[in-house]
Amino acid sequence: MGCAPSIHVSHSGVIYCRDSEESNSPHQTTTISQGTATLHGLFVKTDAADSIPSVLAYQSRQPPPSAAPRRKERRESGGASARSRTPHCCSVEAETQTSSSSVKQASTTEIQVGPMRLTQYPIQVLLIFAKEDNQSNGFWWACDRAGYRCNIAWTPESALECFLDKHQEIIVIDHRNSRYFDAEDICRSIRAVEPSEHTVILAVVPRISADQEETSVLPLLDAGFDRQFMENSSVTACYNELVQIEHGEVRSQFKLRACNAVFTALDHCQEAVEITSEDHVIQYVNPAFEQMMGYCKGELIGKELTELPKSDKNCADLLDNINTFIKKGKEWQGVYHARRKSGDSIQQHVKITPVIGQGGKIRHFVSLKRLHCTNENNKQVYKSHHEEKYTGDNSQSESNSYKCKNRRKDSVDVKSITSQSSDAAPSLQTRRYSSMARIHSMTIEAPITKVINIINAAQENSPITVAEALDRVLEILRTTELYSPQLGTKDEDPHTSDLVGGLMTDGLRRLSGNEYVFSKNVNLSHSHLPVPNTINDVPPCIAQLLDNEETWDFNIFELEAVTNKRPLVYLGLKVFARFGVSEFLNCSEVTLRAWLQVIEANYHSSNSYHNSTHAADVLHATAFFLGKERVKGSLDHLDEVAALIAATIHDVDHPGRTNSFLCNAGSELAVLYNDTAVLESHHTALAFQLTTKDSKCNIFKNIDRNRYRTLRQAIIDMVLATEMTKHFEHVNKFVNSINKPMAPEETSPHSEGSDTECTANIKNFPDNQTLIKRMMIKCADVANPCRPLELCIEWAGRISEEYFAQTDEEKRQGLPVVMPVFDRNTCSIPKSQISFIDYFITDMFDAWDAFAHLPVLMQHLANNYKHWKTLDDLKCKSLRLPSENNN
Ligand code: AMP
Ligand code: ZN
Repeated sequence: MGCAPSIHVSHSGVIYCRDSEESNSPHQTTTISQGTATLHGLFVKTDAADSIPSVLAYQSRQPPPSAAPRRKERRESGGASARSRTPHCCSVEAETQTSSSSVKQASTTEIQVGPMRLTQYPIQVLLIFAKEDNQSNGFWWACDRAGYRCNIAWTPESALECFLDKHQEIIVIDHRNSRYFDAEDICRSIRAVEPSEHTVILAVVPRISADQEETSVLPLLDAGFDRQFMENSSVTACYNELVQIEHGEVRSQFKLRACNAVFTALDHCQEAVEITSEDHVIQYVNPAFEQMMGYCKGELIGKELTELPKSDKNCADLLDNINTFIKKGKEWQGVYHARRKSGDSIQQHVKITPVIGQGGKIRHFVSLKRLHCTNENNKQVYKSHHEEKYTGDNSQSESNSYKCKNRRKDSVDVKSITSQSSDAAPSLQTRRYSSMARIHSMTIEAPITKVINIINAAQENSPITVAEALDRVLEILRTTELYSPQLGTKDEDPHTSDLVGGLMTDGLRRLSGNEYVFSKNVNLSHSHLPVPNTINDVPPCIAQLLDNEETWDFNIFELEAVTNKRPLVYLGLKVFARFGVSEFLNCSEVTLRAWLQVIEANYHSSNSYHNSTHAADVLHATAFFLGKERVKGSLDHLDEVAALIAATIHDVDHPGRTNSFLCNAGSELAVLYNDTAVLESHHTALAFQLTTKDSKCNIFKNIDRNRYRTLRQAIIDMVLATEMTKHFEHVNKFVNSINKPMAPEETSPHSEGSDTECTANIKNFPDNQTLIKRMMIKCADVANPCRPLELCIEWAGRISEEYFAQTDEEKRQGLPVVMPVFDRNTCSIPKSQISFIDYFITDMFDAWDAFAHLPVLMQHLANNYKHWKTLDDLKCKSLRLPSENNN
């Protein structure tokens, strides 16, 4: 050790490799690049012009691959122009591996500053020593060990030049002997140049003897040194010092340098940015802020916010509110009136974010401000900026307005008003204003237009978060499918997606050329059926069963059995009598009986599910619901009659296939009803046709035209409501219009008598009555999961069988399989029931129960759900466990 470095660049431009003959020297071979010169050998003469200061440049190790591009860049920049700027710039790199095992690998280091990731390249050190001695060598070898790039300068001039060329992170200046040069002067001259701002300068001071007094470091600090190093030529001592500096100050400086990038970003940011201290003293404003407020930064920085004129429109409350918010470390956003230097008041959208710093305390507040462009002043401010900024630079102006057009509904962005001065397409904001103006001048407003207008108006003065939330609301309101929940496509259970696809879509998967031949055997006859003459002469076994008709647990399948699959006539007679339907319609019981008979005859007994037993079941549920206090109180007699008739006819002539099937098959009915609510339209139309065709069964023949029209309208509305594509629309409307408004009354302590009040309110609003009737028939239609377990199981078996038959036929006819899970060979009925309940039943019955109070149904629903879950957990795919099958 102790050998001098191997390369020396002289004033004459000659680089000497001294001591390189030594076999153990780490610098045996050197590569010298300067401009085009890349030479190997002991003596290297560069083509550098003029004086090249006495600089030694050395790097003992081959830099790691990650550092290579940087080196290459430096070499490339050593061309003619670079050379003339820095004539002495030379890089000398020894590429032999050092023999020293303790050498640290020079490598790049990843450093995190907040969210920024930086790469720190190997440290560069400049040693400024008047002459070579043990101390300079100590640092030299310490650099070698630490993997730092090292230069040595012997004169103040070469030192400065070398620094200006390489901007070393650490400079070590020999401060032991003032005979050769004045270390403090050198330090000052280096500090006088800008790049030294981030450099750590170390003074090597003479060792003091025991009897000497320690001197203050202050003169050194004043001269620009950062620290002192007591003379110590031990390589380890030098190494430790340098490494500590790297990990401490150099790294902090490196991080600080990154702030420059952030400040540059802020300076170019189009939003106004202001940074204050925790006491609201302005520390920074960006050019956009200066423009917006009309001040230059010199007038703002160092001022307390309270010293600036405030707009009178900001009430003290608002300022207090902001303060309380941000002092708690919370972000505040809102609209704020500010006064410009010129005295104008402008409206700004402001976002103030507290920044936590030292000691976990709030150390700064960062405010981002955008002009809120509703007031004239704002537009003026913007306009003047815009003109100032873009005059004579059309391309920039265009690209700016283009950017603005592409931004998401930047309703509050100042740039949105550019279209006044350019012929760019109107921005969203401008469009909003002009369309608002048009809408306001319209005389006939659709309710949705009114809603949108109200929201638009509310947006004008709301904080940006609210305005943005309202934007989202408007987006949703503008879609037509307001009530259809969006099914997740991938993760959704196939049973649910099949049911939804099968029940809630119409003609989307229609195939041409597959004709579904619809039964034309409309049954107009009723004479061949054994029917009782009056409700009083029904066979005793049937009468006995019907005694129980008012309870929810009434067994419709027993009635089906004893009536030879004609339960609808018998139940109809009984129920219609109970609700005084003949009286209301002013028709004889004979006509009513004939009508029931015709309707029942047009249900397909061959369908396992959609037969007249299902109609009777729905009629039974409807009658049950009509008996509930709230329902009875909310509806009129006409509504009751309409509901009972609707329930009776609601699936008449059902072919046992879904709407999707009919559409896919291109059936006559699908063609007739344009693939829209095909079956429901058919059930209603056919029912009225059958009723009015023959006066013997025309139950409407004796009511006046107006009453007929009202009744007919109510019936049609209810039957159409059973169409499943509108399921969520009906349920949601009911929840929003009936459940929600009732909820506060129910929880209020003075809710006595509120039941009658509430129903009276509903009665006053025919729209609400309509929602109740729709909900009632919908619930009655799919009440089978709320029936006693045995009945529920029977219905599940029947609907599954009907679906299986459809899948069989789809396969036979080469039609699209609408609900592939309903394949008789593979289907898990419990899973399908769980999906049906989860997706369609639970929410709807929760809402209906909340209104009509139906504890028995809800209990059955819970039990039945448990039944299906148990089967599913046991991987059982059928209706019951094998052990229960004999029951
Ligand atoms: P409707 O055709 O008027 O009876 O409408 C009710 C819809 O719900 C029909 O498409 C039925 O197929 C379906 N549905 C009723 N009960 C069930 C059930 N337990 N499982 C699956 N689907 C059902
Ligand atoms: Zn039905």
